[in-house]
Amino acid sequence: MAREPQSAPGRLTTIVAGWQARRIEDPVARLHFLRHSLGDRRVWDVPRLARQEWKRRKIVWAAAGCGLLLLPAGAWKGNGVLWDRAPVLTAQASERDANYIPSVWLVEQGTEREEYSNGLRIERRYETSLTPREYVVFQRGREDRGASAARTAPAGIVFHSTESAQTEFQPDQTRRMRIIGTALLEFVRQEHAYHYVVDRFGRVWRIVRESDIANHAGHSVWADRDTTYLNLNRSFLGISVEALTDPSAGQSQVTPAQVHALRVLTEMLRSKYRISAQNCVTHAQVSVNPGNMQAGYHYDWAVGFPYAQVGLPDNYAAALPSIWLFGFSYDPSLVKVTGEPFWRGLVLGEEQLRQNATAHGLSLEAYRGLLEKRYRQILSTLSANNVKAKEREG
Ligand SMILES: [Zn+2]
Repeated sequence: MAREPQSAPGRLTTIVAGWQARRIEDPVARLHFLRHSLGDRRVWDVPRLARQEWKRRKIVWAAAGCGLLLLPAGAWKGNGVLWDRAPVLTAQASERDANYIPSVWLVEQGTEREEYSNGLRIERRYETSLTPREYVVFQRGREDRGASAARTAPAGIVFHSTESAQTEFQPDQTRRMRIIGTALLEFVRQEHAYHYVVDRFGRVWRIVRESDIANHAGHSVWADRDTTYLNLNRSFLGISVEALTDPSAGQSQVTPAQVHALRVLTEMLRSKYRISAQNCVTHAQVSVNPGNMQAGYHYDWAVGFPYAQVGLPDNYAAALPSIWLFGFSYDPSLVKVTGEPFWRGLVLGEEQLRQNATAHGLSLEAYRGLLEKRYRQILSTLSANNVKAKEREG
């Protein structure tokens, strides 16, 4: 359903624009088109599935004047501040796809490798351990009420690229690629940098055990429908592809074997830990810099992650939680280098942020200030929990 204003533009303009908009499949493109055509910021698509979900969670309608402001019950805090409103545009896709969990099982396990029912083979020669995983999360919409009890199962996957030296993917370069790949694996193991590396031939190397923390995500933010995650080293698994995906380096050189490996590995991990599809995201989408409150500090896979081929919904279409949940901004130059997919998440995040600010009757700047304060509070709760966890680890 698209609510279309009937006053500012003429009725004919509205009808024509509405007809044209219905022919645009992409919801973001449609939204932008309507904005352009009708010159009205109130245009917003409220998908049916999202509305059903909001109803289920006892959503109350508020601000009857425009009929567009949805407030989750209990979202008002003691200090009278609405914490946030989740983006409805992305809820539809995630609602549908997150329900599907593949079924994959271990077929054979040896000291050198593991084999799985979907054809996945994991090489274990570089396997190492670091620190057992233990982490806390925050309930969506009630983030400032403190952290959850400690959890140990991974909640999601962050996809990285190694951004390491590359040589042409040609038969006569095989020896060179193997030398580069071995040096890379040794470096990654030494740094405990990821849980898995997918080399250029599509071989999957386990580096840090799934039960342990890897140093892959640094300062980062993600959220699903129920939960907010901060600093994902502890809560998410890290998979890195031996590739260059920095948008400034041009087209990424991911090989078909790597895409296949990513798919079977993702299927296995989602099956094993019941990871929702919406929690499988790229480093660029989660990375933040608390120093300047800007999103996209690291931008590996800011562009070109093959979501569809990996069997996932296009999570680039998700509004970036760092922006709408904590008021992060971004360097405008980022938009120039990342290309449209990542840009969409930024735009949707800002759109949601603006709507939430309006719902409070606050200026964008004032609302951002409020969210930053909340972010820093939650960050300190998290640090205190991590210190406690480290103490327990001895
Ligand atoms: Zn990364």
